[in-house]
Amino acid sequence: MGNSEAESTHRVAVLDEELCQPRKCGLECIVYCPVNKTGGECIIQRPDDGKAVIAEDLCTGCGICIRKCPFDAIVIVNLAKELSEDKVHQYGINSFRFYRLPTLKKCAVVGLVGRNGMGKSTIVNILSGNMKPNLGKYDQEISWDEILKYYQGTEMKSHFEKIANGTMRASIKPQLVYLIPKAFKGTPKELLKRYDERKVTDKLVPQLGLQNILDRDIAQLSGGELQRLAVAIAAAKDAEYYFFDEPSSYNDVYQRLTVAKVIRELAEQGKNVMVVEHDMTLLDYLSDYVHIIYGEPGAYGIVSGMQSTKVGINNFLEGFLPTENVRFRDKAFRFDIASSNEDVLLDIPIASYGDLTKSFPSFKLHVAGGKIRRGGIIGIIGANALGKTTFMRMLAGVDKPDSGKIDIGATISYKPQYLNQDYDGDVRSLMYTAYMNPIEGSSVEQQIIIPLGVKKLFEKNVKNLSGGELQKVAVAASLLRQADIYALDEPSAFLDAEDRIAVAKFLQRFVRAQGKSAIIIDHDIQLIDLVADSLVIFEGQQGVEGSATEPIKKEEGMNRFLKALSITYRRDETTGRPRVNKEGGRLDREQKESGNYYYTKIQ
Ligand code: SF4
Repeated sequence: MGNSEAESTHRVAVLDEELCQPRKCGLECIVYCPVNKTGGECIIQRPDDGKAVIAEDLCTGCGICIRKCPFDAIVIVNLAKELSEDKVHQYGINSFRFYRLPTLKKCAVVGLVGRNGMGKSTIVNILSGNMKPNLGKYDQEISWDEILKYYQGTEMKSHFEKIANGTMRASIKPQLVYLIPKAFKGTPKELLKRYDERKVTDKLVPQLGLQNILDRDIAQLSGGELQRLAVAIAAAKDAEYYFFDEPSSYNDVYQRLTVAKVIRELAEQGKNVMVVEHDMTLLDYLSDYVHIIYGEPGAYGIVSGMQSTKVGINNFLEGFLPTENVRFRDKAFRFDIASSNEDVLLDIPIASYGDLTKSFPSFKLHVAGGKIRRGGIIGIIGANALGKTTFMRMLAGVDKPDSGKIDIGATISYKPQYLNQDYDGDVRSLMYTAYMNPIEGSSVEQQIIIPLGVKKLFEKNVKNLSGGELQKVAVAASLLRQADIYALDEPSAFLDAEDRIAVAKFLQRFVRAQGKSAIIIDHDIQLIDLVADSLVIFEGQQGVEGSATEPIKKEEGMNRFLKALSITYRRDETTGRPRVNKEGGRLDREQKESGNYYYTKIQ
């Protein structure tokens, strides 16, 4: 790097403490750092555990230590100097930090889109007053006076003034809804009563489909029920600012849209609303504006300027911010509709199954028989509690049908919906167990491990993985097993939007190139649209009776599914991505009249 570049940039040096293992390496970072070699102390060892500490003001950003570290523990990035003026928060020395803040708007829903590990939840905590920003001064207690002075002359000043003087009224739907039963014992009815400051739960309960669970023990609720209960509680509070951190998780398509309507109504009532969401079709439907957060997961995040939702999501897919002239991803994500296998399905069945039935004490399932074709991907969609997972488990041989024959001479590798984190060991050994061979240097390292981003997790203990990391590891492990059919139950859960698209594209390539088949259950319409060639639609009465169609063409299946929900989708003319039409709007009316609830092609 030349001097002028060094002068115009500042260094971000981040160390992954779990990966840094000074007892196992030869301290190559210290040995090879050119600043250290000339007598400087750019990288030193922490006295207590010997882990590396990098002095960002001495670092020239040469990147040698990144290449020398055998455990990929170091990230060094050169960022524009003026950004250092916009640092909002830094967790510690050589730790994650982020720059700039998104804007909240009265009467509007503002969405945050970006990868996991970019600081979205921290932003929610700071803007809601749950956490004080330190402006990058992680080693000292910062006063509100200093923060207000820093934001003098900006829109954020009055926002932080409200937090500082205790007049901020904020309501948050937290990301991790499964923690609710740990914090509260009792029934949903009791919890809703406690927080019904706006006297709206009589309306919210039927709107969110919570009528039948009001008197249950909270500990017995499913993920989707907990999610909708958390949304109801957050919306029932009387606040000026509302934050919804990932409100779609665990919910089916219909439930996601009812949650979206509740959130939109808050904005229509004059509230400031912010949403963090990875389901792009939902975020598109829900938001008026978006901010993109880009950077390097776990190292740094930068909040873009505010954009209209359509432009923002298209820019996110493009990986480029024209107004800021920033390319944050090498490749654009394209919805290459023409690449669908739908019309050229190889009629070579890899397996088949007859009409199947399965009964439980209070639930009955009927599945119309069908074939699983080589090179094809079957998407399974439908509301929750209609037997999708039971069908998958029967195909995988985990459960037996009561009647009907499954003729699967082929082997199936099954990734369940709920992931088990009990494995005692690191990711490398888990991958080895799945593949039964060393991964490094093998063809699957190039084909599966690197494209899915699992290589950099190899040294991590499975118990310490985040939800998104665990999902990628589980998908990779299931693909590493020798099988003919890969059955994946909700691979999108906990993945960010970018990983969802990457996994979908990867799966499609993998299945076609290897002559395998895949079956995928998911509620993310964009992911199903990207990955599936044909669909099995689940219909019926939730929790009582479910029936599944045979595999049908994607357009026909989507039309059938969406007609039952009275929802229409169009295609974005720039990117080809599916977009939900505004209910009752011109396109919605026209498409309903013509029976085109879902276009597979740009009109
Ligand atoms: Fe040293 Fe910085 Fe170069 Fe790493 S990037 S070797 S810390 S000068």
